[in-house]
Amino acid sequence: MTNFELLKQRDDEYIIHSYGRFPIAIDKGKNATCYDLDGKKYIDFTSGIGVNSLGFCDDGWVSAVCSQLNKLQHISNLYYTSPCVEVAELLVKMTGMKNVFFSNSGAESNEGAIKAARKYSFTKYGENRNRIITLKNSFHGRTVTTLAATGQDVFHNYFFPFTEGFVFAEANNIEDVKSKLDSSVCAVVVELIQGEGGVLPLDSAFVSELTELCSEKDVLLIADEVQTGVGRTGTLYAYQQFGITPDIVTSAKGLGGGLPFGCILFGEKTQDVFGPGDHATTFGGNPICSAGAKEVLSRLTPEFLGEVKEKGEYISEKLLKMPHVKGIAGMGLMLGIELSGIEAPEVVRAGLKHGVLLLTAKQKLRLLPPLTITYKEIDSGLKALEKTLSEF
Ligand SMILES: *Cc1c(COP(=O)(O)O)cnc(C)c1O
Repeated sequence: MTNFELLKQRDDEYIIHSYGRFPIAIDKGKNATCYDLDGKKYIDFTSGIGVNSLGFCDDGWVSAVCSQLNKLQHISNLYYTSPCVEVAELLVKMTGMKNVFFSNSGAESNEGAIKAARKYSFTKYGENRNRIITLKNSFHGRTVTTLAATGQDVFHNYFFPFTEGFVFAEANNIEDVKSKLDSSVCAVVVELIQGEGGVLPLDSAFVSELTELCSEKDVLLIADEVQTGVGRTGTLYAYQQFGITPDIVTSAKGLGGGLPFGCILFGEKTQDVFGPGDHATTFGGNPICSAGAKEVLSRLTPEFLGEVKEKGEYISEKLLKMPHVKGIAGMGLMLGIELSGIEAPEVVRAGLKHGVLLLTAKQKLRLLPPLTITYKEIDSGLKALEKTLSEF
């Protein structure tokens, strides 16, 4: 048996079967290049689903994390620590939002945002203004509440009773939102580009109208930037390209550069919603994760973000010339490839043979490469992808 087969046998025995995994085990990597347990090389167009913003084992990131590891790994939010303050300060200065709550994941950030929206409304308007509009085809996480918030029926099975109070409106249909935005609604949650839903950017006109509508009615606009955030689309957060300022922004995935770290950013209206005891989490603002996040954020200079956009355009241009590629959607290094005459999961599986790691999103092939991917790595990954597509 190969090293992989031996590992798979033990995984099957000891880990529950809640993940459909591809038949390889990744062992080590550098930037956007990695190797499996049997030594085969791959170009990574996934970054661990938008997590490894600086690629595998970036020198600056490793050194930031390791030096913090030698100093203090955790103490709890009963005490002040500096790494999380530095991250919060960077986030506030880079976004214009007002303050930050630290969490450990995307779902947890969204849970906190939902709580904040309900408390904001409860305090100001009383009990019956607690419903939240989310968009059809959205994805907001896997907890009981964030599943309920997710606008896809397939996620609303088995785990009843779900949290009440979510209403689904059609993306890019302002009339549908208006018809649902009655006096029982306290917030609207959007992904500016629906990620899991198929890399579908919202229209900027829809986003502007929605923002205006929310502001008129004092309904909070929450941007779920768990996938679109942290430089992924070519700005720190995608909302910055839509010319709006949400009342709450949720972030996670790429924030820690590979460590479990998330945050909720609060704006002018929402900055004082949570007081002592209203919300907490044991690991929130953990020093190690904060050290990783600080390194990630400090690398996202305007030049770096400009390159993210350029790399995205370069990739799109090349992709459009490949067989079976019908269209590209997305921004920066968040790309969805519409295919014709071929199923995306087949391409992902065949891509492994040719040494490239790919993702799907609904019917599309999805690319979320590390933001630091080099042009050499891009060319090598695209060559493997072209070979893969030509096979069909
Ligand atoms: C991945 C994702 C989540 C959930 O994040 P977890 O860290 O897996 O809990 C929530 N919202 C969006 C938009 C996501 O892409």
